[in-house]
Amino acid sequence: PISKRLQTVASLIPGKSVVADIGSDHAYLPVFLVQSGKIDQAIAGEVHEGPYQSALRTVLEYQLQNHITVRKGDGLEVIQPQEVETIVIAGMGGGTILEIIRAGLPKLMGVKRFVLQPMNHADRLREFLIQHNWEVADEELVLEDGILYEIIAAEPSPKPQTWENWQYAVGLRLFEKRHPLLAEKAKLELLRIDRALEGLARSHAPDTDKLEQFEMLKKKWLEVLD
Ligand code: SAM
Repeated sequence: PISKRLQTVASLIPGKSVVADIGSDHAYLPVFLVQSGKIDQAIAGEVHEGPYQSALRTVLEYQLQNHITVRKGDGLEVIQPQEVETIVIAGMGGGTILEIIRAGLPKLMGVKRFVLQPMNHADRLREFLIQHNWEVADEELVLEDGILYEIIAAEPSPKPQTWENWQYAVGLRLFEKRHPLLAEKAKLELLRIDRALEGLARSHAPDTDKLEQFEMLKKKWLEVLD
C-alpha cells in the first residue's frame, strides 16, 4: 500500500482524468491510480536518471506500460499542451514546485487541476496560484510519521481574485472546512511566530510592518485554536 500522504494526494485527483505526475520517483502514485481503477492514463515525469529508472522498473513490474508512460525531463517539459488534465507535483519544496509551474506556464492549456504537495512554503504557492488566475478548489492536511503535510488542489479561475495574507498562510479552504488537523498546524505556526516575534523584539529598530503582520497572523492562528 502507498503512504497515507500519497493516498490523500490521490483522493484529490479527479477520476478518469489523464494525469501527469511530475517528479514521480518510483511511479507509485500513477501505479496506485491505475491499479485502483481511478484513472486509465498517466505520464510519470522524472528529471534524474536514478528515479527515472525506478519509475520504468515499477511500471514494467506491474505490466502497466499501456497505461503509464515514463518520460525523462525537467518539470513540465515532459508534457505537450492539451495532453493532460491533472498535474500532480508532490514531495518537493514549495520553491521548486513554483519554479516548475512558472517555467511550464505555456504548457497549461487544457489543464483542469493541479494537485500540489509542497514540503514547505505552501503559503507562497497559494499566493502564486491566486495571482495567476487559479483558484484553490480544495485543500487537505495529512499527518504521517509525525510530519504534517499540506496538499493544495487548484483549478483555473473564471474571475480574478485576491486573498488576504492570513488566508494564504492558513489556507482558506482548510479554514473554511475547519479541517480537523488545522489545530496541529496552528500549534506549529504559533511556535514559529513567537520565535520570530522574540527575534524582532530583540532588534534595535524592529520592522513595524513585519511586527504587525506577525501579530495579525498570530491572532488568526489563535482563532483556529478556539
Ligand atoms: N512525487 C513522489 C512522492 O511524492 O512520493 C516523489 C517525491 S521525491 C522526494 C522528489 C522527486 O522529484 C525526485 O525523484 C526528483 O528527482 C524529482 N524532481 C525534482 N525536481 C524535478 C524537476 N524539476 N522535474 C522533474 N522531477 C524533479
